[in-house]
Amino acid sequence: MKLKIKDVEFGYSNMPVLQNVNIELAESEILGVVGPNGAGKSTLLRCIDRILIPQKGCIMLDGRDIREISRMELARKIGYVPQDGSQIFPATVFDTVLMGRRPHLGWRSSERDTEKVLETLKMLNIEDLAMRDINELSGGQQQKVFIARALTQEPELLLLDEPTSNLDIRHQLEVMEIVKRVVRERGISAIMAIHDLNLASRYADRIIMMNGGRVYAEGKPSSVLNAENIRHVYGVEAKLSNHDGRPYIVPLRACVSANR
Ligand code: ADP
Repeated sequence: MKLKIKDVEFGYSNMPVLQNVNIELAESEILGVVGPNGAGKSTLLRCIDRILIPQKGCIMLDGRDIREISRMELARKIGYVPQDGSQIFPATVFDTVLMGRRPHLGWRSSERDTEKVLETLKMLNIEDLAMRDINELSGGQQQKVFIARALTQEPELLLLDEPTSNLDIRHQLEVMEIVKRVVRERGISAIMAIHDLNLASRYADRIIMMNGGRVYAEGKPSSVLNAENIRHVYGVEAKLSNHDGRPYIVPLRACVSANR
């Protein structure tokens, strides 16, 4: 699946948020979207999943404008994991993940769907939670359930909004490794908004650094994640070193007068 975001502008009730956003995404690519709070990362993901409609510009999937794709077809193509699962219905983990199959088969599930759900629960190491009520789980466990639901959907494009925010370091690595594996094995693409610059550096093929609703920098982690960009966009002095050919960032202090 090829994604092209062209000249996109979006504002909430006329308060401009996204401005002049142009992004292209190739197959089997993980794109990390970084930037400070309020930079527009979640808004961008919601526009790609057509929860929000940009006032200007267009978003194309394999050459088709997403406004012309039916909701059901879009749900087969895009799996979206929101930042918080605030709209959690009382249901077991199994049923919540099974809902990911709905775009493929309607309401009636088959044995194959059950297998897919169990397979995904296993992949995320949460099969022992299958019969638990999702509302009774920790934030981190819920986060894994929503990732499982999106993977069970078998999308061509995975959108992850802060997929590791509630996870401890072990589960962060586990989830990122799964995303990487799924992207490579299934040849799909993923866009993840992520605060942790070191996880972005390690797992993203390419990074977009957003600032004030615009793309401030774009490229390989080694070119985007540098001290100057971090100072300018986050107002933070950082020390950078190299780990396995990728930048490793140690934030030192907030700048006294940030050039923001
Ligand atoms: P990020 O994900 O980078 O933190 P967001 O996309 O959540 O940024 O927010 C970008 C801007 O849009 C912020 O100024 C935020 O306050 C505003 N915003 C986000 N959601 C809404 C909303 N539902 N209504 C009005 N403004 C919003």
